[in-house]
Amino acid sequence: KQALYAELRDVEPFTRCGTRIQVMMNAGLREDISNLNLVGADGIGLFRTEFQFLVSATLPQREKQLRLYRDVLDAAGNRPVIFRTVDIGGDKAVPYLRNEDVENEENPAMGWRALRLALEREGLLKAQARALLEAASGRQLNVMFPMVSEPWEFDAAKKVFDDQLAFLTSQKRQPPESIRYGAMLEVPALAEVLDILIPKVSFISVGTNDLTQFLFAADRANPKLAERYDWLSPAILRFLRRIAQATVGQQVDLAVCGEMGGRQLEALALMGLGFRRLSITPVSVGPIKELVRQVDLAQITEAMNGWLFNPPADLRAELTKWAADQGI
Ligand code: PEP
Ligand code: MG
Repeated sequence: KQALYAELRDVEPFTRCGTRIQVMMNAGLREDISNLNLVGADGIGLFRTEFQFLVSATLPQREKQLRLYRDVLDAAGNRPVIFRTVDIGGDKAVPYLRNEDVENEENPAMGWRALRLALEREGLLKAQARALLEAASGRQLNVMFPMVSEPWEFDAAKKVFDDQLAFLTSQKRQPPESIRYGAMLEVPALAEVLDILIPKVSFISVGTNDLTQFLFAADRANPKLAERYDWLSPAILRFLRRIAQATVGQQVDLAVCGEMGGRQLEALALMGLGFRRLSITPVSVGPIKELVRQVDLAQITEAMNGWLFNPPADLRAELTKWAADQGI
């Protein structure tokens, strides 16, 4: 199989019916970037900028952030990179931020984290905005905000970038050639207001790790719950299908960037729900490209529609059998 994945490295993933599926990869550290060429991903669909903060003993200064972002963009060449602004706080606590508020939280995953923290520690987000805008000088910049729960939070975060962009322009610095802003959809409430969010954003990326944690009210880090709920459950799949349907015909790119997209059956299900972009862990890129080439979208869509209309007792078992019958 490894030889096959190596062969697929430079092959664009088209389904059997001829639809191009974007297979991007997730990354977070400088060392991850070499994987782009190694696995032949379409780009980086989720760059977790907080990793630099987590591995650093002190708050990474703007210059240091800038160097990392520039190196990532250099390595990616003309492939897109989506930088997610810091998702710290909660369980990803960093010692050098005064976060006694965080330490006293009973439910850190639902606490003062990610964009919630960044919007209040505005200096942090400002510095990151400057670093990203400068790193992408003359190129395309894609910025994604984590844990957006209401559309105004997206507006507030984008304003921080707009202000920094205005400042750089006033200093006669070259801005990015273009800037696209997007939101992660990982808080269920946001799915109820997609009509308000979509006109504001260029892209939406579903974070299935947090989304399923919040849908099932099941801590994603609790080993006792790890096997209890299935990504291939009607509740999750129906929820995801509604998101996909809300974006049909809209000017917005939709992706999944949680771990779900890197698993064979789950990726197959996602394609059947209407997802055409996945950002996954690098080792999954080869296997998912291989899967894409075997898929007929009309068939999997029809199968998923049937199962979601009238769910079988064990959807995973049905999908497994179906895939085997298709020779997948
Ligand atoms: C997610 O929540 O699905 C996600 C991609 O982000 P993270 O795993 O970094 O929370
Ligand atoms: Mg998340």
